[in-house]
This record gives sequence, structure tokens and C-alpha cells, in this order.
Amino acid sequence: MVKQTILVNLDRCVGCWSCAMACKINNDLPEDTWFATVRTLGNGDGIDRPSGVWPNLRMSWMPVYSKSCTLCAARIADGELPHCVNSCPTLALTFGDLDDPDSDVATKLNALTCKGYKNWRLPAWENSKANVVYTSRR
Ligand code: SF4
Ligand code: SF4
Repeated sequence: MVKQTILVNLDRCVGCWSCAMACKINNDLPEDTWFATVRTLGNGDGIDRPSGVWPNLRMSWMPVYSKSCTLCAARIADGELPHCVNSCPTLALTFGDLDDPDSDVATKLNALTCKGYKNWRLPAWENSKANVVYTSRR
């Protein structure tokens, strides 16, 4: 069975919002509608706050996919990558069939796991797209 999946390597994400903007523009979404947003992983409320305690501060981000994300079904049917994956400048996003051991997404996830990366999905209460796997070494 095909399990189309987006793998997010959080260690490569620089919080640029290119993925979210590429989705919004290419899908012609209304101003207040986003299929993907980028969350700052910092201290408490507000965006762009680092985590940690000075001087050991760190900025990190996480793209979050809403349930409305279609995984770019029409593009996939044409053999193209999703807009968000295609637009990521740091190659933080990988797309493919996780059930195919030879796919980009399966081989990358396997290689990163062997290097000690931890993998997880967002919990159900996040109301996020299920076919997204996060990986990070931190
Ligand atoms: S997979 Fe397609 S629809 Fe889903 S967030 Fe990415 S660009 Fe938008
Ligand atoms: S996943 Fe890629 S495009 Fe999206 S915010 Fe991170 S670095 Fe930018």
C-alpha cells in the first residue's frame, strides 16, 4: 500500500516559511487560510523567542501541516513533488512512499535513524496532517 509521507528534518529547518508560502501562493489560498505554517520552538508565548538560557540560546522551528493539506495530490499524480517540498532551500523536507523501502523518504529516514535521529508524529490533539514524520538529533 502506498503511504505518501512528508519527512521533516528539523535539524535542517531555518524557519524561512518558504514551504508555507509556496503552498499558499500555488494553491491560491485566502489571506487567513494556511495548509502549512511554521512554528517557532522557543520559550513560551510569542514568536521568534529562543529556547534555552543565556548564553546557551537556540532558535529552532517546525513546519506544521493542517488537516486541509492535500499532500498536493494533483502534482503527485503528475510525478511532481509537493510545492512545499520543492521550495525548501535547505532540503529539510523529503516526500515519498514510506512503505517503499527504496523511496527517498524511506531511505533518508532509515539513514538518519541509524545516525541516532529520533522520529515522531504530532499527537492527535494537534489536529495536524497524519502523514508527516519529524526527525531530529536534538
Ligand atoms: S503538501 Fe501541498 S497542500 Fe500540503 S502543505 Fe505542502 S504544498 Fe500545501
Ligand atoms: S521546512 Fe524548509 S522551507 Fe519550511 S521553514 Fe523550514 S527551512 Fe524553510
